[in-house]
Amino acid sequence: MPKGKKPVCAKCPNTVCQPIIKVNETPQLTEAPDFCPMINMADIMQRAMTEYDKPEVKEFARQASLQEFECYERTPEGLRTKNPRILELIEFSKKCGYKKLGLAFCTGLSTEARTLSEILENKGFEVVSVRCKVGAIPKERIAIKPEEKIAGAASWESMCNPITQAEILNSAKVDLAIMLGLCIGHDTLFIKYCRVPMTVIAVKDRVTGHNPLAALYTINSYYSRLARKSR
Ligand code: SF4
Repeated sequence: MPKGKKPVCAKCPNTVCQPIIKVNETPQLTEAPDFCPMINMADIMQRAMTEYDKPEVKEFARQASLQEFECYERTPEGLRTKNPRILELIEFSKKCGYKKLGLAFCTGLSTEARTLSEILENKGFEVVSVRCKVGAIPKERIAIKPEEKIAGAASWESMCNPITQAEILNSAKVDLAIMLGLCIGHDTLFIKYCRVPMTVIAVKDRVTGHNPLAALYTINSYYSRLARKSR
């Protein structure tokens, strides 16, 4: 970590990086908090920004920004959102000229995987999909004890296999890998081993219908226990 305070953008009081000013004005860095990485990590910022000078990176970033722009419509009442993420995925993939999409999905979201796969095929994409249980390798292979199996000690339980999911999509040379509902940790491994461009259509949340933010939205009521301090 470079000199200076660690960045804590999540607690920023005045978001100088997102000022409400005119196009010809300049953001006032002097008003940034002392933990602001724009002040303390200017060298890292500068290095990172040179990456956008690579034509393919710049074009990718431009397309992503255009996609963001197109997710809103301008109405007499003001800005309104219009695109669900699945549509965003389709539109962005088309913008990038992607033809072959890879779906790495959790077995718990098999129905969703089939529906998404059909939607993408109907939009003209080739879809390769790989279930998390691919390989049918028992959990004992990663030293899971009988009492640590969800279905019980006497049951066969296939381990989730995100590395194989990633390697299959790598070898299929998909233009874009899409993660659908992988568990925490399994998703981390998938991301680590995936060597093609990757995005997430949904994350796993067994309790909230795969909407982890629901627990934050109800932090002052049903999920107040999350706000309590613990060691
Ligand atoms: S970059 Fe600086 S101004 Fe922007 S949120 Fe982080 S601390 Fe605040």
